[in-house]
Amino acid sequence: MKIAVLPGDGIGTEIVAEAVKVLNALDLKLEMETALVGGAAYEAHGHPLPEATLKLAKEADAVLFGAVGDWKYDKLERALRPEQAILGLRKNLGLFANLRPAICYEQLVGASSLKPELIAGLDILIIRELTGDVYFGQPRGRRTASDGLFPGAEEAFDTMRYSRPEVERIAHVAFQAARKRSNRVTSVDKANVLETFQFWKDVVTEVGTQYPDVALDHMYVDNAAMQLVREPKKFDVVVTGNLFGDILSDEAAMLTGSIGMLPSASLNASKQGLYEPSHGSAPDIAGKGIANPLATILSAAMMLRYSLNQEAAAQRIEAAVKSVLAQGLRTADIFSPGTTRVSTLEMGAAVLRAL
Ligand code: NAD
Repeated sequence: MKIAVLPGDGIGTEIVAEAVKVLNALDLKLEMETALVGGAAYEAHGHPLPEATLKLAKEADAVLFGAVGDWKYDKLERALRPEQAILGLRKNLGLFANLRPAICYEQLVGASSLKPELIAGLDILIIRELTGDVYFGQPRGRRTASDGLFPGAEEAFDTMRYSRPEVERIAHVAFQAARKRSNRVTSVDKANVLETFQFWKDVVTEVGTQYPDVALDHMYVDNAAMQLVREPKKFDVVVTGNLFGDILSDEAAMLTGSIGMLPSASLNASKQGLYEPSHGSAPDIAGKGIANPLATILSAAMMLRYSLNQEAAAQRIEAAVKSVLAQGLRTADIFSPGTTRVSTLEMGAAVLRAL
């Protein structure tokens, strides 16, 4: 099992180092190789995604990614900015399925802005299609309107579109993920208004007939946005398109209240994946040794589950994380009175002990 380790910028190097220690502590034959990405790669090689890094990522079974970006690169031309490395990896590896769990740990219930009873025990998985929809649909651009409400006026337009294979493959990811959980999928659409999402709904329903053991329901996106804050625990796996998924996955993430706890995975058709925390490179706290490494450690657990087929090892890591929280250990971002504040290194060491 070969893993490309790409720590990136800011707190990326600090948090990935802790996740690597955790992976090394498992009794698994993991081959890990590290490479530069993002701003760090730009500084050394003049490009955020150098050929050698891309080659390593392509040849690996999975990529463990920290975070990229720093405000000091904001003036670079777009193609050379650190964030382009993520887009390049997604494109080159064909990563079309983004998986973001939103789990609310018992001990962190107070961090949410919702009432404890609404989110205690929350465990949902948002699956977002990542390479299609209105974000990538062609044509797009600016022009002079030839029709519409204001002919002759300047206008801008994008194209929302999905092909059958694009919807089928993300639907399969959702149904298969549901089988590893509690066999329920909610497909989120806007079929009442959008042709694209009536088609989405029809195709997801067809794919669903291949999974008679998984219960499928459909929900309009506006209702889903409401239900996520009204009764989030009624969801299990939520599957949706790129635009709706972008918004709903951030909404779901905030239900848990702690960005430093949330892992994510982006997968391709052969289960090769890129695993990263949902947060960014946090330049404001980089180098201070206070970043929370748990989202990255939990991303490593997702990597074991979805790309390396090591469910037992994934569960061991998740149980270790729960155990350190139960011991009252907290990095600064999740600290509350009555708990013990620890550094990035101490949190990593505590997870190792719990393992
Ligand atoms: P951010 O997620 O980096 O930080 C937001 C806030 O959360 C900051 O106050 C930060 O200190 C805190 N935070 C984030 N992760 C934390 C952790 N693990 N432990 C403790 N506190 C944590 O978002 P931002 O500040 O908007 O962006 C900073 C940089 O990160 C930008 O250059 C942006 O482009 C980049 N970014 C990268 C990714 C990625 O690599 N996937 C994602 C988002 C943002």
